[in-house]
Amino acid sequence: MNNLKEEKFDTVIIGGGASGMMAGILASVDGAKVAILEKNSTLGKKLLLTGNGRCNITQANFSNREFVEKLGKNGKFLFSGLSVFGTNETQEFFEKLGLKLKTEKDGRVFPESDKAQDVLDALKKSLKKNGVVVKLNQNVLDFEIKDAKIVCVKTAERKIYAKNFILSTGGKSFPTTGSIGDGYAWLEKMGHTIISPMPALTPMKIKERWVKELPGVSLPNVGIKILQQDKKIFEITGEILFTHFGLSGPAVINASKYVSQNISKGEIFLELDLFPTFTQNALEEKLKIDFKEYKKKDLKNYLAEYFSQKLALTILELSKLETDRKIYSLGKTHRNNLAKLLKNIRLSVDSLLDFESAMITSGGVSLKEVENKTMRSKIISNLFIAGEVLDLDGPTGGYNLQIAWTTGYVAGKSTNH
Ligand SMILES: Cc1cc2nc3c(=O)[nH]c(=O)nc-3n(C[C@H](O)[C@H](O)[C@H](O)COP(=O)(O)OP(=O)(O)OC[C@H]3O[C@@H](n4cnc5c(N)ncnc54)[C@H](O)[C@@H]3O)c2cc1C
Repeated sequence: MNNLKEEKFDTVIIGGGASGMMAGILASVDGAKVAILEKNSTLGKKLLLTGNGRCNITQANFSNREFVEKLGKNGKFLFSGLSVFGTNETQEFFEKLGLKLKTEKDGRVFPESDKAQDVLDALKKSLKKNGVVVKLNQNVLDFEIKDAKIVCVKTAERKIYAKNFILSTGGKSFPTTGSIGDGYAWLEKMGHTIISPMPALTPMKIKERWVKELPGVSLPNVGIKILQQDKKIFEITGEILFTHFGLSGPAVINASKYVSQNISKGEIFLELDLFPTFTQNALEEKLKIDFKEYKKKDLKNYLAEYFSQKLALTILELSKLETDRKIYSLGKTHRNNLAKLLKNIRLSVDSLLDFESAMITSGGVSLKEVENKTMRSKIISNLFIAGEVLDLDGPTGGYNLQIAWTTGYVAGKSTNH
């Protein structure tokens, strides 16, 4: 590392993803000399993948208070940031950059064009307008630290000095996008505590073979309980998708964090409720009425009206009833057992898919060591931390990008003061 080229800026941002770009725009508004160091040959590689290439930019359904509740126990850390740059301000921000937005089901906000590329282009245009120096293909390798302050960052060819540094290197998920967890190691070396990074927002591998024999079957409204030693850890209702390895779909993905946090403590079970809007009694009653009306029907055809033909046959198999069973041949016990099964299908979780397919990393730098009003490190006085590298994550629906926008905004703005 001898004869390294030297450069100097007011603020240097490490990582040109969603949070780093937002931080760059804010850090430079008052004319400060700002650089973004990005290891890829382009900015925002992960941003382009978001929302299946459509970029679910934020979430419009909730107040800041409700938003933080959706993030779980660490959510309150974000409250202060959201009150400065929340979901409304984010939408205004992008609209001012000329990006038209639309709100879809469940408050999911997307660019009207359905193109994540347009979000990236708007950010890049703003960075250019503010004179931010974007240095691509710059893999940051290390930091030089003196008296609890960063002096400079090092790449293979350069030493880059600055008054302030913003660390926005993301988590460990989807490592092909450049986020491989570099930030955790550096922060730990600087004295920060890292809450063990785990894959979150990921599908689940399920042990039962029949689940894997229904790939492509989806159900729009299923109740899922996550259980460990018969204790309920988490509960959610929503869409599920059967796959060749187990289960996916929004409800499963949003439940995965709770599996991730507990699977090392012992076996985890899922309990599926295929009729979540009915109580056990109400479902028994419904079957009683329906079975009277459709007594000549095959049970498999009755069930196929609610589920796919294939799943209907699987349900018969699980309830140990013959596949050609006519409804009139079923007694009260059969009926009530069927209702019980439909409301309590128990599955065991084999494992989660790994970081390669997790949308998010849970865990990260301990929030106790970061000032939430500024995103400044409490250990290194000229370091600000933003985005997924923080121990903060949310469900699907625009929450995670909002975390990146808010923390990036606050970090960038704070370097200006
Ligand atoms: C498939 C997929 C779909 C998603 N869809 C959505 C969605 O629709 N809505 C939503 O809210 N969230 C979504 N997310 C989550 C969202 O993408 C992340 O929350 C967000 O990108 C985090 O931003 P970040 O800036 O913290 O990190 P990143 O976007 O990961 O950016 C970090 C950057 O740092 C760079 N970097 C890392 N190490 C170094 C180094 N040593 N030197 C230089 N640069 C470095 C990386 O190359 C990367 O560009 C999705 C995630 C995935 C994987």
